[in-house]
Amino acid sequence: MEYRINRRTGDRISEIGIGSSYMYEAGMEEAVKALRRAVDGGINYFDLAAGDGATFPIYGEALHDVRDRIFFQIHFGADYTKGTYGWSLDLDIIKRSVDRQLKELRTDHIDYGFIHCQDEVSDWETYLRNGVYDYILSLQKSGVVKHIGLSSHTPSVIQRILDDAEVDMLMFSVNPAYDYGQGEFANGSVDERSEVYRRCEKEGIGISVMKPFSGGQLLDAGQSPFGKALSQYQCIRYCLDKPGVLTVLPGAHSVKEVESLLAYYDQPEEATDYSVIGTFAPPQAAGKCVYCNHCKPCPMGIDIGLVNKYYDLAKAGDTMAIEHYRTLEKNASDCIQCGHCDSRCPFSVRQSERMQLIREYMDAAASGTAD
Ligand code: SF4
Ligand code: SF4
Repeated sequence: MEYRINRRTGDRISEIGIGSSYMYEAGMEEAVKALRRAVDGGINYFDLAAGDGATFPIYGEALHDVRDRIFFQIHFGADYTKGTYGWSLDLDIIKRSVDRQLKELRTDHIDYGFIHCQDEVSDWETYLRNGVYDYILSLQKSGVVKHIGLSSHTPSVIQRILDDAEVDMLMFSVNPAYDYGQGEFANGSVDERSEVYRRCEKEGIGISVMKPFSGGQLLDAGQSPFGKALSQYQCIRYCLDKPGVLTVLPGAHSVKEVESLLAYYDQPEEATDYSVIGTFAPPQAAGKCVYCNHCKPCPMGIDIGLVNKYYDLAKAGDTMAIEHYRTLEKNASDCIQCGHCDSRCPFSVRQSERMQLIREYMDAAASGTAD
């Protein structure tokens, strides 16, 4: 397992976590084994926006004795007072639901208390008016909630809430389909979605990824909006390459499924290469670097994806990205304009030209004259 640090909280979070939508379907025995296998494999991050209230006693049974080694995302607005999942903006219902979850999880604290599923600005206004956000803050003050999270599928709403609230972790629906305008939660344009990634990276807000396989659709050629299946490993790497992303949270019901996720780290480079999505990209995505590194090897040893990621972040105002760029062993100044990357890029990025732009920008940044 590899880990990433949430810069706001200092938490060391596993790159692969577990989403819990359908966990309860496995039943107590198998689900407990699956969760124990996840922890044994180094997974330490678990989302609890579950499809059914039966999920919480499973987690309580499986993980109460390792609670100090793991992180829970708990959602203020996911209502389990009637057993199955419901969405609510009502403060009393939310209080009762959270109390019940804590009891069944056998814990007294919440690592990330989430402002849950806000897809309209009016949801957020109601949330504030009803006192739900203040309730999370009061629990944070008393030490029950450690950090605050936000879950949403909608870039414009995310931007508004990040302006209003101190958020340490964003749960966002990320996959190539949504980024390319395909599927149920493909909200926002390519550029609006990129702005969310870059803002999170710049401000140190971690992203935990929901729906990395688009509910399984991307893994099945018959259901994929692209008409071609991707593997779960391609999707995981795609998400982990996005700025700001700390952890990817696929659902898993069984030991076998958990082991299959853990096998991500055993895959050869070509099994995680997702550059095939270049053939699905809409016109507005063409020419935009997605940091996939399919254009490697560069004869000068430049990590082309990373150089581009730092450049995009620096342009978005992230001064740390400029510092990171400067520490690279090879950067855009080493480019000899050979054009190999231009011919290899599936996204029609004219990378050799871009390297010149990057060099000029970073040189100007060093002398304090960059825009
Ligand atoms: S230039 Fe193209 S192939 Fe290279 S990292 Fe960017 S998107 Fe990927
Ligand atoms: S054009 Fe520059 S970045 Fe691209 S492969 Fe050649 S040396 Fe590397």
